[in-house]
Amino acid sequence: MEIEKLESWYNKNRRELPFRLFKDPYRIWVSEIMLQQTQVDTVLPYYDRFLKVYPSVVELAQTSEETLHKMVEGLGYYRRFGNMLLAAREIVEKHGGKFPNTYDEIRALPGIGKYTAGAILSIAYNQPYSALDGNVIRVLSRYLGIQGDMRQEKNRKHLDTINQSLIEKAHPEIYTQAVMELGALVCKPTKPFCAECPLRETCFAFAHQAVEDYPEISKTKAKRILHFVTFILRKDGQLLLKKREENLLKGMYLYPQLEADHLEEALNAMERTGVRLSISRHRGIVKHVFSHQTWVMDVYEAEVLKGMPEGCILVSDQAFEKLPMAVAHKKIVM
Ligand code: SF4
Repeated sequence: MEIEKLESWYNKNRRELPFRLFKDPYRIWVSEIMLQQTQVDTVLPYYDRFLKVYPSVVELAQTSEETLHKMVEGLGYYRRFGNMLLAAREIVEKHGGKFPNTYDEIRALPGIGKYTAGAILSIAYNQPYSALDGNVIRVLSRYLGIQGDMRQEKNRKHLDTINQSLIEKAHPEIYTQAVMELGALVCKPTKPFCAECPLRETCFAFAHQAVEDYPEISKTKAKRILHFVTFILRKDGQLLLKKREENLLKGMYLYPQLEADHLEEALNAMERTGVRLSISRHRGIVKHVFSHQTWVMDVYEAEVLKGMPEGCILVSDQAFEKLPMAVAHKKIVM
């Protein structure tokens, strides 16, 4: 690969993003976690707010999971932030608040996989460790003409080995960001701007007019559609909410809901657990699409007449404002 051309293109064309201003491993870690499955434009306002409140790992380690979830409410994939908090506390306890600088120590932190460790080590510490993300997979598979379904682990591993050999010949901090930036700005998933690409003279896919054939990515299964009856429930003037324990939306609060096709089925299920409701209003259907499933929620306002739905807590309207709510339920405007 023409690494020098790529690096020099990056130095001239890179976007001025706030997480590129400092080579601080903490800031780079925060940005990498936020950017997982999330667009840069969405992340930017969260990133600025986050660093104002948590300027270092020490402040982050002292926060509560609830406060942290409220701060990132709307970003989705909340388990990453629960892990982030555990990792921050571990950095304070085991490393005296200083972000570690070896691969093994960084990988040992909760929620840090091979990609994130590679990104931190190469960008913050200029160490040659591969960071293979979707942009890098696209650029390398096109540039080198590497075939194979990139959903398969063995094919990603093969590309990761190639990326590792390339970064060892490059300036790690520049190389990692340069390939990612090329993927984001030029070598886009559809209609890449090959005419503006610093690698076009030696690019396999460009030479073979096969740019859109790479990378090979098999289709995912159709999204599951789940039907819920969702209740905005009140008891003694307070709202009932439930903290989510499952991986999807872990740590966020939701209104109580049951997987059911219609209201009667949900009410019967409640009755079986000793809970009786009085329905006051039908709010209608609210839909929320996740990456692997769609929730179709039939929403009702109701009062609890008897019992208490399992796992629910009572909150005042003021306390409700401070709790991190899942966006799927935030859409259900009070
Ligand atoms: S020439 Fe086109 S396909 Fe090849 S790396 Fe550049 S943008 Fe991607």
